[in-house]
Amino acid sequence: MQDEKGTISIHTENIFPVIKKFLYSDNEIFLRELVSNAVDASQKIKRLGSLGQFNGEVGDLTVNVRLDEEAKTITISDQGIGMTAEEIKKYINQIAFSGATEFMEKFKEANDANEIIGRFGLGFYSAFMVADKVEIDSLSYQDGAEPAHWTCDGSTSYEISSGTRKERGTDVILHINEESAEFLNNARIQQILDKYCKFLPVPVQFGMKSTSEPDGEDEEGKPKYKTVEVPNLVNNTQPAWTKAPSELSDQDYLDFYHELYPQSMDEPLFWIHLNVDYPFNLTGILYFPKIKNELEIQRNKIQLYSRQVFITDEVKDIVPEFLMLLQGVIDSPDIPLNVSRSFLQADGNVKKINNYITKKVADKLNDIFKSDRSGFEAKWNDINLFIKYGMLSDEKFAEKANDFCLLDNVDGAHFTFKEYYEKVKDLQVDKDGNVVYLYTQDQAGQDSYIQPAKAKGYDVLNLDGPLDTHFAGYVEQKGGEKLQLKRVDADVLDKLIAKDETVELVLSEEESKKTSEVFEKAISRTDMKVEVDALSADDFPVSVTVDEFMRRMKDMAKTGGGMGFYGTLPDNYKVTVNGNHPLIKRILEAPDEQAGQLAKQAFDLALLSRGLLTGSELTAFVKRSVNLI
Ligand code: ADP
Repeated sequence: MQDEKGTISIHTENIFPVIKKFLYSDNEIFLRELVSNAVDASQKIKRLGSLGQFNGEVGDLTVNVRLDEEAKTITISDQGIGMTAEEIKKYINQIAFSGATEFMEKFKEANDANEIIGRFGLGFYSAFMVADKVEIDSLSYQDGAEPAHWTCDGSTSYEISSGTRKERGTDVILHINEESAEFLNNARIQQILDKYCKFLPVPVQFGMKSTSEPDGEDEEGKPKYKTVEVPNLVNNTQPAWTKAPSELSDQDYLDFYHELYPQSMDEPLFWIHLNVDYPFNLTGILYFPKIKNELEIQRNKIQLYSRQVFITDEVKDIVPEFLMLLQGVIDSPDIPLNVSRSFLQADGNVKKINNYITKKVADKLNDIFKSDRSGFEAKWNDINLFIKYGMLSDEKFAEKANDFCLLDNVDGAHFTFKEYYEKVKDLQVDKDGNVVYLYTQDQAGQDSYIQPAKAKGYDVLNLDGPLDTHFAGYVEQKGGEKLQLKRVDADVLDKLIAKDETVELVLSEEESKKTSEVFEKAISRTDMKVEVDALSADDFPVSVTVDEFMRRMKDMAKTGGGMGFYGTLPDNYKVTVNGNHPLIKRILEAPDEQAGQLAKQAFDLALLSRGLLTGSELTAFVKRSVNLI
């Protein structure tokens, strides 16, 4: 053929330096793009073979990546369909470079360069991010095709001539530029291949690696080993998510989990195999991890693939936020990758994918709940945070989760919403017909409130998780107007669930007033309001409680529920003095100083039982107690 020089027709002159600069932070993707192209070309020859459009030997299709540190080159070789000189001109000069032009256009509109970096599949063109010269050596599969050689030095002009390649396929040779010397390093290349190419559908080989192999026995009959060089294969061409669920055992799913997250020591709790092809194409496996701490959540993130090519593990806009607590893989060629964030959020497919995943996750949880209730309960501790987060943030999910979401009580029993209502509705109902659920956020710390409630036959729920303040609000709202949730220390027991029967106060009006005065003086705190009340004689003489509504608003403000104003208010405690307790009569009959001491002592005991007695107050209490005994 005739050697030819030409100019690549793109509208924007000198776009190379611009693109190089803006893609710099993500320039490792050049290898993903070039290896993907090689894989595509290999799959194409296979397909042509099976369609009968190619009658030669398909042969070994392994893609080879070679690094030559001395020559400063990286070569990507495939045995795919190859290209004729005409095809190189068409596909590389025109198509590949038009991608670059498009990039420039998008770049002009984008407000933030980050919006496009890494999201824009620049394909072949990305080679110029790291190379100052790129060569293509190719021989097309077509009968009588001539080998072709193309070279381009990073300007808009290229040279094309006859090539020397004897075998079908393509070599892309990158002459790595000065600034990109980091890529002339085995470990670096291996790392990039591990990240992007681990599950490509065609074998990818990166040089050789040494391994030991059995080599007979020595004189003593012990096995001997020898070191041998074997091809260093980068990928598993058939990762679990590409197979049918019926082909996979539980062990296969667990093995794949560890293949995906080699660092992880934990086993996932269970998993969901995703598989749709209409109205969008998506496969994947999502794992439910044991949620331990935030660090873990950060580490093993859901990975997004497109036809087995790793794209990103930033799936924020693709899966609903609460599902980001899950792990695993999503593979979909239908997620637009070359677009900005805001476009992605508005994309119809992405919305459908979101809904599909949410539905699948809810269905799976429901299945497990129905088929293995005790197993579900055993996992509740690990999955409740995730389910509650989902219910609070996603209405559709909540609708389904209402059937399998569990409430657990301080005795470790679990109930669905319906079951729990049935359990408590007869006893825990107040005089106005409100059903009251009692709960604790600190079972050990609130024991002195829990035990009296239990003695009355009431049940106490455990709501001590990070989202449970919000969740309590959700349960209440779901239950309708006549359902209330109250923390056990929100009021004295008789008032938490106020019944019709009234207890008579044994004190006269004057005695009651005096009691108030004695306590107010002994307590002398502005943030505590004293009330004398008629409770049963065996209730505590003094209780300190905090109003449910105010406390919940403050809790919500703390966990970012948009109740900022409440966060600024002081805690408002109520001190209830039980006028019917025998101690009160003793206080009223005692000389002033002793009365004050007794009142203070009874009050401190109340503070102690809610963990509010600290510092010098605590020391004074201990001293006073010693004196009293
Ligand atoms: P894309 O892969 O998105 O089409 P590229 O810029 O990566 O864009 O490549 C442009 C075209 O060049 C490809 O569509 C393909 O036809 C051709 N091509 C690139 N690499 C190879 C290769 N290794 N073997 C055969 N054809 C290739």
